Amino acid sequence: MPVTGIIFDIKKFAIHDGPGIRTTVFLKGCPLSCLWCHNPESQDPRPALAQFPRNCIGCLKCIDACPQGALSKGETQIIIDRAKCTNCGICTETCYAEALVLQGREVTVEEALAEVEKDRPFYENSGGGMTLSGGEPLMQIDFAEGLFGAAKEAGLHNVLDTCGHVPWEYFERVLPYVDLVLYDVKSADPKEHRRSTGQSIGLIQSNLRRLTQTATPVHIRVPVVPGHNAQAEDIRAIAELLSGLDHKPTVELLKYHRLGEGKYESLGQVCPEVIEEPPSDELMQELCASMQNYDLRCKVGG
Ligand code: SF4
Ligand code: SF4
Repeated sequence: MPVTGIIFDIKKFAIHDGPGIRTTVFLKGCPLSCLWCHNPESQDPRPALAQFPRNCIGCLKCIDACPQGALSKGETQIIIDRAKCTNCGICTETCYAEALVLQGREVTVEEALAEVEKDRPFYENSGGGMTLSGGEPLMQIDFAEGLFGAAKEAGLHNVLDTCGHVPWEYFERVLPYVDLVLYDVKSADPKEHRRSTGQSIGLIQSNLRRLTQTATPVHIRVPVVPGHNAQAEDIRAIAELLSGLDHKPTVELLKYHRLGEGKYESLGQVCPEVIEEPPSDELMQELCASMQNYDLRCKVGG
């Protein structure tokens, strides 16, 4: 049986997911549920039906197509009964307007690699390659290991973008093929971490410690989110944590943005927390400077 994975996107010409021009493969499934998540479609490991009513042309073909009777005609749009919907995707095959879209599809390692290989000339000219992101790519460890291994054999530069909340053994399985790890750190405060991500901080910290003892370079990414970790003392606490590691990683602060909010609605979910104001450019620079006080190489990312 070929190894397969569930992915929800393949992004070409990515320039923020590691060095050079990259292709980023987004895998479904995440052990965290961050209140500010901008990829809510990544959290459920299974494919999920998304709705974009503005695309609907009112043909009603989807209603007849649904074997569960989960769709009906509403006053202004097609109504999805999420309790009946099994996310089978049959209705999306009749919806040429793309008002109903199944987010998530199963692909083999070979199919994913073939897609990534299409842009090989761009990687060679820019020092880029392939990045696996999500969700948490290591949640699908067999697929992640297979794809990283195949890409390495093909001579590609591999980057892992991880939240870190997975068993250490999963890192051991992929590290032989990974050239750089992008590692998310959201908070150094155990209570706040649990509150805002739904998970404890322990495994993430211990994996980070072990990772920085390996030969693989680690680049920390901190999403700066007002109301969660955008105060000077929040960033100082993260800086203290990072500066105590055996090998100091490089750090990038990422400005929170609101692009994920509309996605919740398309999935029939409520955005768990609306954050009105992203952090200002000045604040981002100040927080970055405070990281540098701890002898950490820090930049504000895009
Ligand atoms: S098939 Fe698509 S375009 Fe047609 S009614 Fe259903 S949602 Fe609208
Ligand atoms: S995904 Fe399947 S069950 Fe859900 S509305 Fe479409 S056809 Fe019906």
